[in-house]
Amino acid sequence: MTEFDTKLVHGKPQDDNNTGAVNVPIYNSSTYIYPSVEADVKYDYERSGNPTRNYLEEQVAQLEDGYGGFAFSSGSAAIHAVLAIFKPGDHLIIGKEIYGGTFRIINEFFKRWQIEFTAVDTQNPSEIEQAIRPNTRAIYFESFTNPLLHVTSVKKTAAVAKKHQLLTIVDNTFLSPYLQRPLDLGADIVIHSATKYLSGHSDVIAGIAVAKDKAIADRIYFNQNSIGSTLSPEDSNLVRRGIQTLAVRMDRHLSNAKKIVEFLQKRPEIEKIYYPGISGTKDHEIAQKEADGFGGIVSFELKEGLDTTKFVEGTKLIQLAVSLGAVESLIELPYKMTHAELSPEEQLKAGITHQLVRLSVGIEDPKDLISDLAQSLDKL
Ligand SMILES: *Cc1c(COP(=O)(O)O)cnc(C)c1O
Repeated sequence: MTEFDTKLVHGKPQDDNNTGAVNVPIYNSSTYIYPSVEADVKYDYERSGNPTRNYLEEQVAQLEDGYGGFAFSSGSAAIHAVLAIFKPGDHLIIGKEIYGGTFRIINEFFKRWQIEFTAVDTQNPSEIEQAIRPNTRAIYFESFTNPLLHVTSVKKTAAVAKKHQLLTIVDNTFLSPYLQRPLDLGADIVIHSATKYLSGHSDVIAGIAVAKDKAIADRIYFNQNSIGSTLSPEDSNLVRRGIQTLAVRMDRHLSNAKKIVEFLQKRPEIEKIYYPGISGTKDHEIAQKEADGFGGIVSFELKEGLDTTKFVEGTKLIQLAVSLGAVESLIELPYKMTHAELSPEEQLKAGITHQLVRLSVGIEDPKDLISDLAQSLDKL
C-alpha cells in the first residue's frame, strides 16, 4: 500500500478509539467493514447507524430521561417519523396551537393517509377527554405554544392519556430538557427541533425524537431507518457541541427575557405581554409547577395605531428573522412571517393580530438589547 494512488484511496491507518480524543470524531463513512460474512457488526451502513449520530442520540436520550433517541435531518423530519408510527384509521388529538409546519404535515400529508385529527385546547383536560374516540391513539401538543406562550400541563394531559391508553407526545422545542423533561412528567415521546435551543447557534437544521420505552423506540427507529431522514455526522457534531453549552445559554436567555419583560412593562407603547413568567395567569401557574424556567421567547402587542413593521425594521442589533432559540436575538411579526400561512380569520381566532411581535431573546448583554428596543419604540 505504498503507491501514490493507493494512498489517495486509503490514507493513513486510523483507529480513533486509541487517539484519546476528548470529543467523538465525525465519522464520515457511509459503510463499515464486516470482518467476516457472519460477523455481528454494530455498524454496517450510515443510515442505520453512525457513531457520531449515535453519540448525539444517546446524549439527548439521557438528557430527556428516555430509553432511546433518534436524530433527524430536521425537526419536521422527526415529527414525520414519529407520526408515521400510526396507521390509517387511527385518530390523534392535537393541540390547537401547534407549530405551523406540524399542521402542514398533518393536513397535507397524514390526512391523505387516512389518519384523523382533532385539534383542541390542551390547556383544558375536559376538552381533551371529550375529543377521545374508540380509535384515538395519542395526544400531541407543545407545552409552551408559539407565539402566544400558552402553557399546557404535561402531567394532567399525560394522566388523561394514560386513563384511555393513549400515547402522549410533546414537542419540547421551546423549553429544551434544561427547563422541562416531559418524559418524567408522564409523556411517552419527546420531539425537538434541534435547530433551536439544542444547537443554539442558527447554523444547523436538525430534529430529535426520544422515546420513553423500548417498544416505541423500536417503532421510531424503524421509521428513521426506512424513511431515511437521518442527521448527517457533521450536523450531529454541531448539535452535540451546541448541547454542551445549553445550560449556560439557557440561564442567560432566561435572565435576559426577564429583564426585557420588566422593561416592556414600563413602556406605554406596549398593550400586552405574553410571557409565562408574568404572574396572575393560568400559564404562569402551570409553568411554575412543571418547568424550571419560563423560556427565552417573549411576545407582545403594540398599542393599536402603532406601526409594528416600522418597529421590527427599526431594531438594529436585534435581527428581523424567523426561527428562534439561538445566541443572537431575533424579532419578527407572526402574522406576516411565521404564521403567514393561516388565513386572516384563522389568525384572528388564534390571537395573532397585526400588533403582535415575537422576540427570541438571545444571550447578548441585556443593556444593549433593551436600548435597541427602546430606540425603535422611541421612533414610533
Ligand atoms: C422550528 C420548529 C419545528 C420544526 O423544526 P425544523 O427543524 O424547522 O424542521 C417544530 N416545532 C417547533 C415548536 C418549532 O419551533
